[in-house]
Amino acid sequence: FKLDLDTPSYKGTVSVNTGLFIGGKWVDPVEGGTIDVVNPATGKRLVAVSAGTAKDVDIAVDVARKAYQESWGLKVPGVERGKMLYKLADLIEAKIDEFGALETLDVGRPFYMSKNMDVAFAIAGLRYFAGQADKIKGETIESSEQKFTYTRREPYGIVGGIIPWNGPLLSCIFKMGPAVAAGNVIVIKPSEFTPLTSLKVAELVNEAGFPPGVVNIVNGLGSTVGHTISYHPQISRVSFTGSTLTGRKIQEASAKSNLKVVTLELGGKSPNIIFDDCNLAQTAKWSARGIYFNMGQACTAGSRMFVQEGIYDEFLAAFQEETKVWSQHTGDPFDLETQHGPQVSQIQFNRVMGYIDSAREDGATILTGGSRHGKEGYFIQPTIITDTRPDMKIIKEEIFGPVASVIKFKTEEEVIKMANDTTYGLACGLFTQNGARATRVAHALEAGTAWVNCYNVFDFNAPFGGYKQSGIGREWGSEGINEYTQIKSVHVNV
Ligand code: NAD
Repeated sequence: FKLDLDTPSYKGTVSVNTGLFIGGKWVDPVEGGTIDVVNPATGKRLVAVSAGTAKDVDIAVDVARKAYQESWGLKVPGVERGKMLYKLADLIEAKIDEFGALETLDVGRPFYMSKNMDVAFAIAGLRYFAGQADKIKGETIESSEQKFTYTRREPYGIVGGIIPWNGPLLSCIFKMGPAVAAGNVIVIKPSEFTPLTSLKVAELVNEAGFPPGVVNIVNGLGSTVGHTISYHPQISRVSFTGSTLTGRKIQEASAKSNLKVVTLELGGKSPNIIFDDCNLAQTAKWSARGIYFNMGQACTAGSRMFVQEGIYDEFLAAFQEETKVWSQHTGDPFDLETQHGPQVSQIQFNRVMGYIDSAREDGATILTGGSRHGKEGYFIQPTIITDTRPDMKIIKEEIFGPVASVIKFKTEEEVIKMANDTTYGLACGLFTQNGARATRVAHALEAGTAWVNCYNVFDFNAPFGGYKQSGIGREWGSEGINEYTQIKSVHVNV
């Protein structure tokens, strides 16, 4: 795939190999299938990429096993594994604009975000995991003069990574980085909607020095390639990011096969709580970022906004003003001013519009937005919905679009109860200038991440993952890398 672009933010060529990357080589799928990749800003087909099937996963697992046994794992010192990750980060950095442009074409994220957040964060993440590769360690347990025990953190061997479409490059790097840093080999399946930047990473893997078979990218559908990775008896661990529905299927497949260890990073319906003692202007800004960031297609989106009654009208007015800023900067993701792009696909567009329609039918008020933007592509206006009730679909289910549902509350006790009344537990936000309340509420909310007086800020040195049905396990931080190791206790009698 090769395309010349002449846009306000990117001028030049983008290119990517559209095959399967197995054993350090580009290959065609055994059964020869393809999948169309569509530009969400135009709704037009960009390119058809190869789509593998179970047979290609089998081949990838065979070469990955060979690589693990012969040229990877703890045979290669951590510092050397780290060097390759550093090199890969440098290679991506040298093409940061092209990576940004590919991500924008594929996902519809505004170019400045793709480049400065996704690609830049992916590069920094690779360097973080590179630095971790030689710091994996066990412990010594002294029990007597004659006996001691030590633990080793050993790699699993072959791991699988299955990733979604909403932050494809980041998801690819956050599976691959810690897995190979810890000495595993990996078979990654990108989302069928957005495979381009994962394939672009594959183009650089050999040059970074990884032995063939350490990193393999098998594009294809979830029901074939994804299912085979989850089921495969020789894959010892799978790390999945995506919907709760699919997470359940992956755990089932693993349970029916070899009980592989499963990390699940799933959906959310995160509360964002605005107390009446907050800094109003700052809160309105952060809350807009909390819900509209990445067109609302963020697992952590602050989609249930609880506003205390004393500040309700004033906050809504300020939040509407902030929403206007996002609406006025909706459009071509390659324009320099664009802040809000399209939803990723026709399916997602229909899904989000379906939720907005359901809110209307349930008697809620569409205060702002609620419609398509423009004539082509999958753009939806940033939308505020008020007069909601806890039993409405828009309050209970993950919308994954730029839709803020607002709920009025009276007391701290009441809002904690309402915020926790969900099967999800990925993240939460709260805005108050009362320090004691901030920590009290952050601790009371059932979520893996809590933001106080900010929203959607990330640090890969901090563990990330969900409570309840938002997931199992943690990514990032030392917990994230340790998840790619299994502990052995060695008892020694001296
Ligand atoms: P999805 O579950 O539809 O798909 C995710 C991946 O799973 C894709 O690669 C897909 O092909 C694959 N898949 C589908 N069916 C499968 C099966 N039966 N077996 C194995 N793999 C299968 O999710 P999506 O629509 O791509 O992404 C959106 C979802 O991801 C949202 O729910 C969002 O909240 C969640 N998400 C979570 C996080 C997090 O860190 N917690 C981050 C990003 C996205």
